[in-house]
Amino acid sequence: MIGIIGGTGVYEITDQAHDVEKKVLKTPYGDSPEISLFKLHDRDIAFIPRHAEGHDYPPHMINYRANIWALKKIGVKQIIATNAVGSLQKSIQPGDFVIPHDFLDFTKLRSSTFYDKRTVHVDITNPYCDKIRKAMISAGDLVDQGVYVCTEGPRFETAAEIKMFQTLGGTLVGMTGIPEAVLAREVEMCYASVCLVSNYAASISPDKLTIDEVFEIMEKQKHELVKLINHTIEFMPSENDCSCQKALEGAEVDEIDEV
Ligand SMILES: [Zn+2]
Repeated sequence: MIGIIGGTGVYEITDQAHDVEKKVLKTPYGDSPEISLFKLHDRDIAFIPRHAEGHDYPPHMINYRANIWALKKIGVKQIIATNAVGSLQKSIQPGDFVIPHDFLDFTKLRSSTFYDKRTVHVDITNPYCDKIRKAMISAGDLVDQGVYVCTEGPRFETAAEIKMFQTLGGTLVGMTGIPEAVLAREVEMCYASVCLVSNYAASISPDKLTIDEVFEIMEKQKHELVKLINHTIEFMPSENDCSCQKALEGAEVDEIDEV
C-alpha cells in the first residue's frame, strides 16, 4: 500500500478515485487521523491530510507521530509526501517542483522519535528513499535534488537566518518536512517528498511577493502536483525491495506497538 501525506490544499487527489473508504485510526499519540482508502493505477492508496482535516493544525502542532503510526498500522510501506516551501535560490522559482535528497533540521520543540523508552539510533545518512525519488523524477518536469531546511515556525525566517541557511547549503525552507521523514525511517517505511515552491524566502527576491501571488501559484500548481503524484504512482517500484525497510536491522525492535 502507498501512503500519500498531503500538505496544505492537496485534497484533490481523492477526486479522481472511486469507492473512497474513510477510516479513523486511534493511535497512542492523542490524535485519531482519518485516512481515505482507494485505488489508483491498480495500487492501494492511503491518503492522509497532514494538517488533519477539520483541525488545520499549524506546522509546529501537527501530530507527526500519529500520522506516521496510522499509515504504518494500516499497511503502508511507501510514502509520497507533499510540502509547500520557500526557495533559497533565485534560480528555483515560485511554481517549481523540487525533490529533496537531504535535509537540515532546525526544529526545536517537536516529538521527533517513536523511541522514548529505549535507545534506537536510526541511520539517516540518506534520509529520503532513493527509489521513490527516482519515480518522482521520472514523473515530470522538476528540480531533481535539493536540501530541505526545516524550521520550527510558525513565524517566517529573518534575513540573517536565510543567509545562514544558504551558507550551509540549503535549497528550500519549510516547516513540515521534519520529523515526518525521520519517523518514517524509524518504522522502516520508504519516504520521499515532492516540494512545491510557493514563494522566495525572505530577502531572496528584490520584489516582495504578495500573499495573493502565493495563493495564485498554489492554486495553479495544485493541479500539476496532483498530476505529478499520479504519474509517480505509475512509476513506483515494487514495495518490498528497499534498504529503507531494513533500517532497524540489529536494533532489536520487533514491532511498532512496542514503542
Ligand atoms: Zn526506500
